[in-house]
Amino acid sequence: MVLALDIGGTHIRTGMIDGEGKVGLFDKRLTASVVRDPVIPNLARFVRGIVPSDRSWERTDHIVMGIPSIIAEDNDYVLSTPNVPLLENLRLRHELSQALDKRVTVLNDVNLSTLGEYSLLDKAKHRNVVAVYIGTGLGCGLILNGRLYTGSSNLAAEFGHIPTRITGTRQRCNCGLWDCLEAYASGTFLERRLKASGEDLRLAEIFVRPDQDPRKGKIVDTFFDYLSFGIHTILTVLNPSLLIVGGGVVNMEGFPRQRVVEAAFSRLRHPYLRDRLEVKFAELGERAFVFGSRELDDQQRDEKGG
Ligand SMILES: [Zn+2]
Repeated sequence: MVLALDIGGTHIRTGMIDGEGKVGLFDKRLTASVVRDPVIPNLARFVRGIVPSDRSWERTDHIVMGIPSIIAEDNDYVLSTPNVPLLENLRLRHELSQALDKRVTVLNDVNLSTLGEYSLLDKAKHRNVVAVYIGTGLGCGLILNGRLYTGSSNLAAEFGHIPTRITGTRQRCNCGLWDCLEAYASGTFLERRLKASGEDLRLAEIFVRPDQDPRKGKIVDTFFDYLSFGIHTILTVLNPSLLIVGGGVVNMEGFPRQRVVEAAFSRLRHPYLRDRLEVKFAELGERAFVFGSRELDDQQRDEKGG
């Protein structure tokens, strides 16, 4: 039995999943009510408290935690986590494992969601998969040869920070650099451009009939131009068989999903790249981390050889 946690800037979600993929105990509460100083004892008490019976606790053999953070190469030390600053500089895996006497794995939340979506797929068909989550920023996850790929220092697949332009009006990215893909193909971009275009425009309605307001139409077109540029770059480098697209922006009212599919295919001239590619939209929403935890557990077992 795997106990899964997803710690976000606002909410902390928990769920349990067994070997058959049966999900239970789904719960959601405010992060601020759980992640408080001293962090490790409070977090440990919370984790133990959410499992209802001693028997369920005994059967829990792995705790998987997704956090919105950069985690060091040792998959333990939390380097940077602007949305949940109290987690920073903790040896989260090690300390929580000691406090609870359980195996603990800590990983980036986008990677955990990517594993969740991957768990639903026909793995004989899809060994190389890219997931792109368009929200406030642009988060990405990468499966290569059937395994989560995180790079040499857990910073692989940061496609949101692909540089996109070198002339014209420039846009600062949240990371501090200029003109990253995320500075254009994200909810932050939409919001910023809307504010600059008129007080009467609302973010929630940006994708609703953009043809009726040229200001909205222009913003949406620019957003898709950059998204197309970024997706093309990703597909050209990695030649995946599947692109998964999800995130808060994709789920907004009126979001034209077909334009994402067009963005993926329109620039791909090479027929072999095109023929092999499928595009799908993320299915699991805020439960993805639970399925991702099961998938991660399976992958770790495989690596150990049983
Ligand atoms: Zn950036």
